[in-house]
Amino acid sequence: LPKAYEGSRPSVWVEYIQLAMEYKPLNLGQGFPDYPPPEYITDALMQVASDGNLHQYTRGYGHPRLVQAIAKLYSKLIGRELNPQTEVLTTLGAYEALYAAITGHVDVGDEVIIIEPFFDCYEPMVRYAGGIPRFIALKPKSTDGTTLSSSDFVLDKTELESLFNQKTKAIILNTPNNPLGKVFTLEELTLIANLCKKHNVLCISDEVYEWMVYEPNKHIRIATLPGMWDRTITIGSAGKTFSVTGWKLGWAYGPSNLLFNIQMIHQNSVYTGCTPIQEATAIAFEKELGRLESDECYFNSITKELEPKKKYMATFLQETGFKPIVPEGGYFMMADWTPLEANVDLSSESDQYKDYRFTKWMTKNVGLQGIPPTAFYGVEHKPLGENFVRYCFIKCRYVLWGDFRRTSLFY
Ligand code: PMP
Ligand code: GLN
Repeated sequence: LPKAYEGSRPSVWVEYIQLAMEYKPLNLGQGFPDYPPPEYITDALMQVASDGNLHQYTRGYGHPRLVQAIAKLYSKLIGRELNPQTEVLTTLGAYEALYAAITGHVDVGDEVIIIEPFFDCYEPMVRYAGGIPRFIALKPKSTDGTTLSSSDFVLDKTELESLFNQKTKAIILNTPNNPLGKVFTLEELTLIANLCKKHNVLCISDEVYEWMVYEPNKHIRIATLPGMWDRTITIGSAGKTFSVTGWKLGWAYGPSNLLFNIQMIHQNSVYTGCTPIQEATAIAFEKELGRLESDECYFNSITKELEPKKKYMATFLQETGFKPIVPEGGYFMMADWTPLEANVDLSSESDQYKDYRFTKWMTKNVGLQGIPPTAFYGVEHKPLGENFVRYCFIKCRYVLWGDFRRTSLFY
């Protein structure tokens, strides 16, 4: 193996999807809805499938109808006219956009700042490019156990400033954040933006959960902050936007000089995305573009759909003895499981970190699967995640949670 790949292991997703297949728990692990996407989206795909002209290769940097629609939407949202040819790229999921953005910019020895807890692929992607991840953890404002909201988790300004130096190439931002659900405030984004500008640093902004933001929080695109357009690559996902994670369609937008680098990686590794999926997504975007202000718009209704699910999960977790951290965005909830420690027997599991032992024991003995958050920390900060579990609430089956109330684990 090349040196940069040393230590690569199957990710938490590979391991936990296998575990779910084996034990068939109620799966609140991997983030995807367990109910169908909006009908007009599946209808669009059916319509596209029956059109004989849409089954061959399409334009490499993005299917024309789709890049048009994406450019139209984000031109509105960020208040500047995007060029669909040069300032937008469609990719195989947000994963590929992240990979191409990182590989297209990070050189051997470059440092990349990653905010913990982080979506786990950021770290290996940086390492594969020869870069050096520099981690900074979001930490609770108070340590008296009253941490109830993702907004209680903050960056230490001095610590963040100390990470920026001459070797810093980029910072990866994820708002709303996975797994915590934190939605970065204008003040926090301004701090990051000012440091990027001061040290000539690129911002890779992963905004796949941009439409899942709970009142009164607001999603702010860092690319809209003064002076940030020129140094920001923003990433989105149709999987999250339209609840079709299996479509694996993502995109990146930003200034043409930065997008060029991403396009080069894309053209020489993937070349072009799936034509029918891109056409169907274009149809979906066009529909939403016509009703952006309406409650019917899926971008607006998805949060309303998720709000009661979030409440249900928070209440259930609370009632059963967990200490949930209520998210401001996204569809995951972290919860401290340690108040239940006396009720579980983790001695049968051999993993190094307690959250892995807890989630595996729960899958096998209680039939409930969550994700261990230490997967979202660099090795030095993993202890910060050990007391927690991450559950996904874009689910309808989890009303079955009621059944778990009766288990002796909880009472
Ligand atoms: N970024 C974050 C924060 C995610 O949670 C995910 C998972 N959907 C991705 C990127 C990858 O998205 P996709 O499925 O579109 O590749
Ligand atoms: N983003 C989703 C999650 O965090 C899916 C992860 C994945 O497919 N690797 O659960």
